[in-house]
Amino acid sequence: MQDCLFCRIAAGQIPSRGVYSDDEIFAFEDINPQSPVHILVIPRRHIATLNDLAAGDEPLVGRLVRVAATLASERGIAAGGYRLVLNCNADAGQSVWHIHLHLLGGRTLKWPPG
Ligand code: AMP
Ligand code: ZN
Repeated sequence: MQDCLFCRIAAGQIPSRGVYSDDEIFAFEDINPQSPVHILVIPRRHIATLNDLAAGDEPLVGRLVRVAATLASERGIAAGGYRLVLNCNADAGQSVWHIHLHLLGGRTLKWPPG
């Protein structure tokens, strides 16, 4: 989708600080980090919200989580702990309509979130 920010980032049409790439998934540093580690893990395929996941997308979602867990390990935050967040629609604060998994860590995170 030409008008989707994250499709364009995954395609390399908009610069980002990429940290992982394969044929299905791209991961990059969040431009406005909320913690010392804040990485976004996205599918290359455009999926607007979690509500748009379809039958057959389960392996892709599983791979997003596995990539995030591997990145957490590489960044040295796996043992200390980290958080994975998927925001869906306005009440959750979703601001980019292409699903993205937030990997947050490197500090103690409060619960419940705001
Ligand atoms: P959400 O509020 O869950 O939709 O998260 C969107 C995230 O995308 C926010 O954490 C933003 O800081 C991040 N973001 C927006 N534009 C960019 C960009 N060009 N590069 C990297 N991260 C971005
Ligand atoms: Zn997109």
